[in-house]
Amino acid sequence: MNSHSHDAARVALVTGGGSGIGRAVCLALAGEGRSVAVADLNSATAAETAAMVSGSGGKAIAVAVDVTSDHSVSEGYLRTIEDLGPVGILVNCAGWDALVPFLDTDETFWDKVIDINFKGMLRTTHRCLPAMVEQGWGRLVNISSDAALVGSSLEAVYSGAKGGVVSFTKTIAREMAQSGITANVVCPGPTQTPLLEGMVAASDDGEKVIGAMARAVPMKRLGQPRDVASAVAYFASEEAAFVTGQTLSVSGGLTMA
Ligand code: NAD
Repeated sequence: MNSHSHDAARVALVTGGGSGIGRAVCLALAGEGRSVAVADLNSATAAETAAMVSGSGGKAIAVAVDVTSDHSVSEGYLRTIEDLGPVGILVNCAGWDALVPFLDTDETFWDKVIDINFKGMLRTTHRCLPAMVEQGWGRLVNISSDAALVGSSLEAVYSGAKGGVVSFTKTIAREMAQSGITANVVCPGPTQTPLLEGMVAASDDGEKVIGAMARAVPMKRLGQPRDVASAVAYFASEEAAFVTGQTLSVSGGLTMA
């Protein structure tokens, strides 16, 4: 195990860790010697990620967490500190969307998108921050999207919620600047994950949509979860101590903002 100057740096809680980008983040952080709480709504896939981490010599536990429930977030957090110790790194990766024209959406859909993608991050941050302040060390890394920066057709509410992730993170970065805690955002472009594949499968022109996405990327390919995980691992590192309130796109040059 790597040595970290703070004990807290050894434990990471990753929401959405059961799939796609979150899973790659769990593997990357565990590979650097962190103990990881794989927090996901889907406890079976969270357990799979934890087993993958253990299989590669790392330490992880699976924690069933629904980020839309304050109670569930609190239970997952308490379980994590009991099993692994104080949480120093929080990665908010849980997210969800469906491709729908804004005029075909309704308030039930808006509430679901905002609750998972924006308020979920508020709940976990609110739960994890106080102990980080007490420890005088912390890393918050929030997964937004290039959609937050430049918009994305059929993702109006999601883009708005992800824009909220960016501005919330900048504000927390300011509030925490003298507490040893950094807060940063990673914005993936289209990335090959079960979420993207599911959205494309549910749309009539799935193959056309995914082809157009890849062609729009200057590097002419979709992102892979590990591309995004490397950026998260950097923000979570000791070396990134002087970097806060930043937004980094990982999208093969799609968004240069
Ligand atoms: P994914 O569906 O593969 O993984 C998301 C995980 O979040 C799943 O395991 C799911 O069970 C979990 N989750 C959903 N709702 C939850 C809840 N209420 N509580 C706890 N966990 C919950 O998706 P992904 O593509 O890996 O997405 C990860 C993050 O990256 C999301 O925030 C997503 O918005 C963002 N993102 C993805 C892409 C892309 O193209 N895939 C692009 C930009 C941003």
